[in-house]
Amino acid sequence: MRKLVLVPTPIGHLADVTLRALEVLKEAEVVACEDTRRTAKLLRHYGIATPLVRVDQHTLERAERLLEEHDYVAYASDAGTPGISDPGAELVALALAKGFRVEVLPGPTAFVPALVASGLPTARFVFEGFLPTGRARKKRLEALAKEERTVVLYEAPHRLGRTLSALLEIYGPGHPVALARELSKKHEEIWRGSLGEAAERFAAPRGEFVIVLGPRELPEARPDVDSLARALAAEGLSGRALARALEAAGVPRNEARRWAYRKEEA
Ligand code: SAM
Repeated sequence: MRKLVLVPTPIGHLADVTLRALEVLKEAEVVACEDTRRTAKLLRHYGIATPLVRVDQHTLERAERLLEEHDYVAYASDAGTPGISDPGAELVALALAKGFRVEVLPGPTAFVPALVASGLPTARFVFEGFLPTGRARKKRLEALAKEERTVVLYEAPHRLGRTLSALLEIYGPGHPVALARELSKKHEEIWRGSLGEAAERFAAPRGEFVIVLGPRELPEARPDVDSLARALAAEGLSGRALARALEAAGVPRNEARRWAYRKEEA
């Protein structure tokens, strides 16, 4: 069956490519890519000689021909996973319409390491990619300020200062934020702090950035009362002493007393 395989490529470190990605890049009849010079560097590094054809948002008509002339096409964007703030989605739609089987290899992308390294909640998050420009931007920012999930944004370095100022206006200076800079590269940095500090520190930054914003309200760090009370009781605490120890660990007074009382009864 004819197939199109989307191949994630390194976001910095050339070794961040999977064995399967290299296999596909080698076996495909042709590698369509966003920028032939960039992908050629990767292929050269791994001794792969598959022909490259440029296909980006300006040259999508070439994709049509490519899919007619070949049975096995690989696609790579400049960095990371195609289709994530990169061309790729249109090619997938075209290939599906032509009856191709479409495979997407798991692999590098910038937002996942940025989110996980941020130290902010990861259970629920929203990926917004690049913010829109013009009027749509303010509207989007206002919607984001109500977001109860962690928010992940991409931004170009020359716009980062302005974007942080806009976020500061909407969220306020104390809002938690992390900036993942130059992931997997020599100058990788994960900066964690408040929006006020970030706007000052990254007014004229260098490198590639992912912005991770905390949710509107961070879930309270609540101790696991049950395990804590059991551990304290095992150490011999009971009654008032147990209630006090629980309170000191952040358990509300009523709950601490209820626990201490229950332990006394047991
Ligand atoms: N397709 C890519 C992916 O899967 O992450 C994203 C491509 S998008 C055109 C480029 C943006 O991704 C940059 O402006 C930056 O926000 C983020 N990015 C890419 N590489 C990065 C890196 N090494 N460190 C931090 N951010 C990066």
